Amino acid sequence: MACFLRCCLVLYLGMQRIYLDANATTPVLPEVFAAMQPYFTERFGNPSSVHGAGQHARAALEKARAGVAALLQCSTKEIIFTSGGTEGDNLALAGFLDPLLRAGERPHLITSAIEHHAVLYTAQALEARGVEVTYLEPNSKGIIEPATLQAALRPNTRLLSVMLANNETGALQPLGKLARIAKAHGNVLVHTDAVQAVGKLTVDLTGEYKNVDMLTMSGHKMYAPQGTGALFVRKGVQLTPLFHGGPHERQRRAGTENVPGIIALGRAALAAQEWLATPAADELRTRRDRLEQGLLASIPGARVNAAGAARTPNTSNIHFASVDAESLLIALDLQGIAASFGAACQSGATEPSHVLLAMGHTQAEARSSVRFSLSRLTTEEEIDRVLTIVPKVVSRLRALG
Ligand code: PLP
Repeated sequence: MACFLRCCLVLYLGMQRIYLDANATTPVLPEVFAAMQPYFTERFGNPSSVHGAGQHARAALEKARAGVAALLQCSTKEIIFTSGGTEGDNLALAGFLDPLLRAGERPHLITSAIEHHAVLYTAQALEARGVEVTYLEPNSKGIIEPATLQAALRPNTRLLSVMLANNETGALQPLGKLARIAKAHGNVLVHTDAVQAVGKLTVDLTGEYKNVDMLTMSGHKMYAPQGTGALFVRKGVQLTPLFHGGPHERQRRAGTENVPGIIALGRAALAAQEWLATPAADELRTRRDRLEQGLLASIPGARVNAAGAARTPNTSNIHFASVDAESLLIALDLQGIAASFGAACQSGATEPSHVLLAMGHTQAEARSSVRFSLSRLTTEEEIDRVLTIVPKVVSRLRALG
């Protein structure tokens, strides 16, 4: 038995693995790793130090800030480095609304029912502190319709927070339109969680998104390390910091900067700009579409969730009727394919996706849905293998009942 298990393990570890979970995290690109590496060793200075080592780190950090600002088309002064998407979302929502509460206002926040928990749970915490919150429901394609926002606006609405791209379905929200509606209403700031959009599509804060006041991004969804990120805060927007301490990041985020991580984020921003300027971005979409169409053609009862919505080029969320998604994911992993539930797995129990439920899917449908998210590194050969393996695994699971 031990020998059999060892053989299985050797086969499993020796297998060529296919990673289709880029919305969970991406590998660090070699050029990004090379850029950050010296900042762990010979260039380890603290950017707040006055000596040469510190000033070298400061200059490198500011260069990285310029890289991130160039990707978003904003000023370097409008970028705050954070520890990732969760911190950025918390800082945007609580940093703006808490001072209003303290000043005696009862502000109204509008967000959506399909946000990542980094926004949803922050909204709930703010609600407990006295903020009025409306959670906009999407249509069946996972889109927040402008009319739904229009109907939710109140005289005391102060903040709109709607994600740009959904992490589970890839559905792109009509953020430009939503932001224009919010601005036409009056005294409303607009925040977007763009964690799943930045690096996958052009996000221009001077063009379509010029009415966006705050934008969250995360490094590990765009080929920089986990624990890195940034919040764009448009000039003039007042935020109260979450952390108290030193005057880092123009008094908005205390704490010695994660210099290697920030250098990596700056380099990844440059790589994203270069990638977006090439046909590779369209090729990724074509590869994703080939995967999707191949699966739908070979698997009866397979259906794309959020089909018909504009989506990020790498994401496909597929419902496989009468298949338990957890069993499918385990079986695929044993075949060397890493995919995911759209929804997070909490305390060992997999909750059905709040996004799919909000779109009107049943619990059973939500529990039979799997997210494939391609990376820039996904190859045609990998898609071919996935198209061979997934139909076999699905029919085996169905046969087992
Ligand atoms: N927002 C969205 C849409 C995400 O997909 C994620 C992570 O999956 C986050 C926020 C949280 O980002 P981080 O993991 O960097 O804290």
